[in-house]
Amino acid sequence: MPEPTLKFSLTCPDCALESVSELPIALIANALLIGKTLRLHSPCHDRYWTATFAEREQIRKSLAALKMDAHANRTPRLAAHTAPAGKHSAVA
Ligand SMILES: [Zn+2]
Repeated sequence: MPEPTLKFSLTCPDCALESVSELPIALIANALLIGKTLRLHSPCHDRYWTATFAEREQIRKSLAALKMDAHANRTPRLAAHTAPAGKHSAVA
């Protein structure tokens, strides 16, 4: 099974051409979570660079939108049921 990926648009720093890039969701989520740098790549100039704050925010939004889509496609009943399970639920 292929790794789930996120597609997002990025702008080449050399020519400002917009292209669509794709990275594994696990890699993006991890980088955003622990503040690790994200490496971006523009195919037009074969150039690699570190995502700026604005680019990270854009990717974060793409990821959030994707997660909302995934939620909508699943049974909402099950998701609502499993979500509020807290530490104190057993004691009450
Ligand atoms: Zn370019």
